[in-house]
Amino acid sequence: MEKESLDKIHIKNLEVFGNHGVFPEENKLGQKFLVNAVLYTSTREAGKTDDLTKSIHYGEVSHFITKYMMEHTFQLIESVAEQLAEALLLQFEHLKWIDLEIQKPWAPIGLPLESVSVEISRGWHEAFIATGSNLGDRGEYIRKGIEALAACKECVVEKESQLIVTEPYGVTDQPEFLNGMLQVRTLLSPIELLHKLNEIEAAAYRERKVHWGPRTLDLDIIFYDNQVIDIPQLTVPHVDMQNRQFVLEPLAELAPWYRHPILGKTVKELLISLENEN
Ligand code: ATP
Ligand code: CA
Ligand code: CA
Repeated sequence: MEKESLDKIHIKNLEVFGNHGVFPEENKLGQKFLVNAVLYTSTREAGKTDDLTKSIHYGEVSHFITKYMMEHTFQLIESVAEQLAEALLLQFEHLKWIDLEIQKPWAPIGLPLESVSVEISRGWHEAFIATGSNLGDRGEYIRKGIEALAACKECVVEKESQLIVTEPYGVTDQPEFLNGMLQVRTLLSPIELLHKLNEIEAAAYRERKVHWGPRTLDLDIIFYDNQVIDIPQLTVPHVDMQNRQFVLEPLAELAPWYRHPILGKTVKELLISLENEN
């Protein structure tokens, strides 16, 4: 979700008394914190209909922040910001993104400073995940994989493509595959998402013996927003997606208009190019 295209609701200098800090006296006596938040959402529908349920209730958000900061104790304001941002994004349906600043006006460092604060920006991301299986009850492995992903609170499976039967790719001397695509909304970073997918694959008894060899479950990140990532463990967009009919076909069912951030072509265009090559 592009936060630039969203509307904003501001909460300024909400005062909350809390016990966060690294010094024991901070945890015991407590102190005042100031919270600033920018809530990113679309206010268009609420603005047109004057219906609060279509927007975010800033009163409820303010009470939620206050309660959360009073009920939890962290050493670092970094942790207050991180955990509170996640709790808010999970709690408020229309909240797509948040800028959150936690200010400590009376940080006890024995110097005359005005205030210390941490500001972070967090939100929901959109990922496309390819599913594949060619061992055992393939449909069941994929279904269980989707269930496991949906059970992770930081991931919401928004759409599932049809599953298609495909010929093996790379190593062709192995059973046919069942392939599909998922559209997922997530609070996880790309690496966290990869780890989550690896965990789900492992639970499906996936063993990595032969590269491109038979597997009970394969979960690959195809897109993560329009980010370009190239580190040893992770390449996004998936490095070979444009050459794979079994990726592009189910992806085109969910997001034909999605534009590849490096190749500049839409999924539909990539699929047509690949079909013309063959
Ligand atoms: P391919 O990636 O060509 O489809 P594969 O899925 O058979 O091959 P795996 O054995 O499942 O390959 O994964 C090997 C490694 O690829 C993983 O451990 C992971 O770190 C890395 N990897 C790099 N980019 C991605 C990505 N976009 N999605 C999933 N894994 C990736
Ligand atoms: Ca793969
Ligand atoms: Ca893989």
